[in-house]
Amino acid sequence: MIQFQNEHLTVFQSALYQTTSAVIQTEKAMIITDPNWLPHEVEAIKVFVESRIGNRQLYVLFTHSDFDHIIAAGAFPQAIKIASAAFVDLVDKEKALNDIKDFDAQYYITRDYPIIYPTIDIVIRQDGQREVLGDIACSFYLAPGHTEDGIFTFVEPLGILLVGDYLSNVEFPLVNNLLAYESTLQKAKSLLEQFGVQALVPGHGQTTTDTLEMENRIEESLDYLIKLQQGMNQEQALEARYSFYRSLKALHEANKQVL
Ligand SMILES: [Zn+2]
Repeated sequence: MIQFQNEHLTVFQSALYQTTSAVIQTEKAMIITDPNWLPHEVEAIKVFVESRIGNRQLYVLFTHSDFDHIIAAGAFPQAIKIASAAFVDLVDKEKALNDIKDFDAQYYITRDYPIIYPTIDIVIRQDGQREVLGDIACSFYLAPGHTEDGIFTFVEPLGILLVGDYLSNVEFPLVNNLLAYESTLQKAKSLLEQFGVQALVPGHGQTTTDTLEMENRIEESLDYLIKLQQGMNQEQALEARYSFYRSLKALHEANKQVL
């Protein structure tokens, strides 16, 4: 389904984990982020893109390599692919592919495109790297902490910030590296201060155009990490705050183990 739409930005939301796929359109370019999950949902994104692509160049941007975010990498073979250097250098690409195969096998899902680990054409190596995609200037920032290979993308002329699995309104931080996660949140904070962010699109949950909401999400994430480090009991507060805590509980426990 379409979760958010304005002139340049359409955000699709999967029925699974409220996973998003943003489609950004300008005169010369279309950028899709993390096309995902179920076959009919991927098909809906494809139909949407095909109906609007015209002479535009298509780009697919991967925010990180978790399997839910690369599950439809094979569905857009004509696109120029973008991801971080760490995404390209990921040692265990087989794991990501096996996660997809396990998921599809579990639910008897077949797909009309190959399951592949994408080959990346534009590699993001450093903070602030700028690339012009068609007629859109984008700046990229390394965003480790949830995974090692995350990136933030700021679509400059449109003020859209694509953050992957950070700053969700439906998930607390899922941490792989605590220090890296904290500094990525600080980076998000300074991007917000530095640029006029008009829309923030997380990998799971709701897109927001409200600056206060964006700031709150950063503070909420930082607060979670501080309490995690201090060993404070957060269970009841998390249960009250997150509708899906029943399922997220194990991930909170996993975060404690990361410490
Ligand atoms: Zn995810």
